[in-house]
Amino acid sequence: MENEIYLLYQAKIHPSLVEELATELKKVYNLEIIVDVLKLEPPLRAYDSTRQQYNSDILLDYYASHLRAGGNNRVAVLLDEDAYVPGLNFVFGEALPGWGGIVYLARLKIGISTLSSTRLLVERTVKEVVHELGHSYGLRHCSNPRCVMYFSNSIMDTDYKSMFYCKRCKDVLDNRGLRHILKEY
Ligand SMILES: [Zn+2]
Ligand SMILES: [Zn+2]
Repeated sequence: MENEIYLLYQAKIHPSLVEELATELKKVYNLEIIVDVLKLEPPLRAYDSTRQQYNSDILLDYYASHLRAGGNNRVAVLLDEDAYVPGLNFVFGEALPGWGGIVYLARLKIGISTLSSTRLLVERTVKEVVHELGHSYGLRHCSNPRCVMYFSNSIMDTDYKSMFYCKRCKDVLDNRGLRHILKEY
């Protein structure tokens, strides 16, 4: 079946964080979540040494061309890096419709000390993964600030929104014949 999400994480990310993330994703999606270490490190040519950030457009091109997702399969790449797209200071993630997306952890760690629980980081990361995957399934930004498809201008927006698609976004998925990918919630 072509109904899988490949959750691929950069080797420097702690596997326990990714395991918790996979558990959370199963609350949203009625899909198989396949977790694996990412074998491809971000290419140096995508790194802007002046900004000390990766160009997310280049990374998206790179990963989408090397990691194919057939049919309704999706890829979610997790990088513990900071990234931008031209015109924006930073991005939490970026998506490619029909393929999947990349989520960047650097800015999601803001305000999280090493002593505090990683729970908040898991929550933020799952929201950004579900958001980028939403774009990959054809969803646009949503005006409902509790909906996961709400655009996060800052980490406060991310903390305020839920990890779930709102009724309106679910209806859009329904119209695209994708209602079956979601759990009932
Ligand atoms: Zn978005
Ligand atoms: Zn919505």
